[in-house]
Amino acid sequence: MRQFLYAVLLILCLSVGHCGEAAVLEGPWRYMETNETENGGVNVPALVRENSEDWPLFDMDNRPPLSGKYQHILLTVKVSGQDPQKNVLLFMTTKQAVRMWLGDELFFSRGRFYPQRYDEGSQPYMVALPAFEGETQLVVEMYSDSPTHLGWFGMFSLDTEQMQMARFFYSDIPLVMAIPVGIAIIFIMVLYYRFNPQGWRRLYGYIILFMVAFCLWLFCVSNVKTLFWDYPRLWWYSLSILAYLLPLAANLIPRELLKGKPYARMDIVLWMNGLLFVVAMTGEIMGLHTMNAMMSLYYPMLAIGESVVVYWCVRAAREGDTLCRSVLLPVVVFTLLGVIDGVGGHFYLLPWHMYLTPLGIYAFLHFVVAILREQVRHEEDLLRSTVKLEHKAALMQKKSETDALTGCWNRSKLKELLADAIAGARKTGQPFGMLMLDIDFFKKINDTYGHDTGDAVLRAFATLVRTHLAKEQACVRWGGEEFLILTDITEQAGLLALAEKICEQVAAVPLAGHKLTCSIGATLWQVETDTTDTLFKRADDALYQAKKDGRNCVVFSE
Ligand code: GH3
Ligand code: MG
Ligand code: MG
Repeated sequence: MRQFLYAVLLILCLSVGHCGEAAVLEGPWRYMETNETENGGVNVPALVRENSEDWPLFDMDNRPPLSGKYQHILLTVKVSGQDPQKNVLLFMTTKQAVRMWLGDELFFSRGRFYPQRYDEGSQPYMVALPAFEGETQLVVEMYSDSPTHLGWFGMFSLDTEQMQMARFFYSDIPLVMAIPVGIAIIFIMVLYYRFNPQGWRRLYGYIILFMVAFCLWLFCVSNVKTLFWDYPRLWWYSLSILAYLLPLAANLIPRELLKGKPYARMDIVLWMNGLLFVVAMTGEIMGLHTMNAMMSLYYPMLAIGESVVVYWCVRAAREGDTLCRSVLLPVVVFTLLGVIDGVGGHFYLLPWHMYLTPLGIYAFLHFVVAILREQVRHEEDLLRSTVKLEHKAALMQKKSETDALTGCWNRSKLKELLADAIAGARKTGQPFGMLMLDIDFFKKINDTYGHDTGDAVLRAFATLVRTHLAKEQACVRWGGEEFLILTDITEQAGLLALAEKICEQVAAVPLAGHKLTCSIGATLWQVETDTTDTLFKRADDALYQAKKDGRNCVVFSE
C-alpha cells in the first residue's frame, strides 16, 4: 500500500515538473556571452535588436556549453501579440542577478550586477509582462561572478496568473506533504524524550535534531516562502548550510544505533561530513564560492558514505538488531532521493526542478513507528522482569523472616510483630495476649531417638499448634523447642481457653508418632505500664511455674 502511494506521488511530481512550457513565445531563444554591459554604457535592447539574428540558439532544457570567460549573458526571444490573460512569466534563476526588457522597457531587475563576496540566491520569480502591441523582443540579462552558474535559467513559462500560481505551488507538493509529518515526528519524539526517562533519550534527541534541521530545510526549499519573505540570499544560504548539516544530523542516528558494534566506524563518516561542511563554509566566507562548488563532492560523498552506513546496518540487522534493520529504509530512501535531487538540481542532468528528498520522510516515519514498537516491547520486557524480581524479593523476604525447620516466624520477624501489636494496643487502649510454649522433656526424644526424630517432632508440634490459631495470631519459634504465640485476644479468659485447647490437643495427638505434652505460660500486655522486658519476664515466669506445677498445664501471670 505504501509503495503504491509513493509510486503515485512520484508520477504526480514528475508530471508536474514537466508540465507546460511557454506556448505564446515566438521562435527560438538566442544568446550571447559578454562583459560589455559591465560599464553600463551599452544600450542592451538596441544591442540585441541589431545583432541577435546572428547569435547561436539557446536550448532552455539543455544549456549549451559556455566559454566560462564571461560574467554576463544576454538571452532573447520574440514575443508576439499574445493573449492578454497569459502575461505572467514564471522562471527560476540560480545564483545570478537578472534584468529583463520588453522592447526598450526595463521591467524587471533583481540582484547586483557587480562582483561581490556572496552570491545571489536561487529562487523562482513570478512577473507580469508590461502591455505591448504586435511583435517585440524579450531580453534577459543575467550576471554571475562564478561563471559555472551563468545561464542557468529554468522553469521558464508564460501563462495566466492562475496557471503560474498552480505551477508555483505544485512543486511545493512534496514539501507540503512532508512538513506536517516532520512536525508530528518532532512532537512525538519530544513527548517520548520528556516523559520517558527510561527510554532511548539520546536517540530521541538525535531524531529531534535531524527533524528540526529537515523541516527548516523543507521551508527553505519551498517556493511559497518567497511570496511572503523575499530574501533570496538568506534562503539560498540557509538552504546550502542546512544541506551540509543534514547528513551530519542524520548520521548521528545510525551512530547511536551502531554504538558498540566494533566494525561500524560511524565517527569517520561523521568527520567526513563535518570536514566537508567546514571547508565549504570557510571557502565561502573567503569569497571562493566553495559552498556550491563543494556540492560536486557532496553528492558522491553522500552516496559512498551512506552506502557504508547501509552495509554496517545490514550487518547489525543480520545479528538481530531490529532498530538497525528499520533504519535501513530511511537511509536508503533519503540517500537515493538526495542523490537524484543532486543530479537534477546541482549537475543539471534531469529535466525537472522539484525536490524529491522530502518524500523520504515517509520512510523515516516507518523507522519512527518501529522505534515506538520496540520501545513498547522493551517496556513489556522490563515489566516482566520487574514482576519476576518482585516475586523473588518477596520469596527472599519470606525466607528471611521464617524459621526453616518449622515454618513459624523467626526471632527477627518477632520484633516487627511485637512492635505492630504494641502500636495497635496503644492505639486502641486494649491489651493483647501472649503465650510462651515449651515441650516437656523434649531432650529425651533427642537422646532416645536421635536428632532427626527431634526435628520431626518439632515440625509436627508447630503444625499442630498453628492449626488452632486464627489468621491474626502469629506463631514464632522463640528458640530450641520453645514457641511464642502473639494473639489479638484482649482478656484472660479467652487467652486461657486458647492455651488450654492447645495443651489438650498436644497431649492428645501423637507428634511424629510420639506422645508428648507441653507447658504454657500466658500473659496480657499491660498498655499503661508494660515494656517488652516485663512482658517476657512475666511469660517466662508463668512457663516456669507451669513446669513446676507438673508440666502439661497452663499458668497465667497477671
Ligand atoms: P523441660 O520439660 O524442662 O523443658 O525439659 P526439656 O528436655 O525439654 O529441657 P530443655 O529445654 O533443656 O531441652 C531442650 C532441648 O531441645 C535441648 C536441645 O538439645 C534440644 N533442641 C534445641 N533445638 C533443637 C532442634 O532444632 N532440633 C532438635 N532435634 N533438638 C533441639
Ligand atoms: Mg526448653
Ligand atoms: Mg522443654
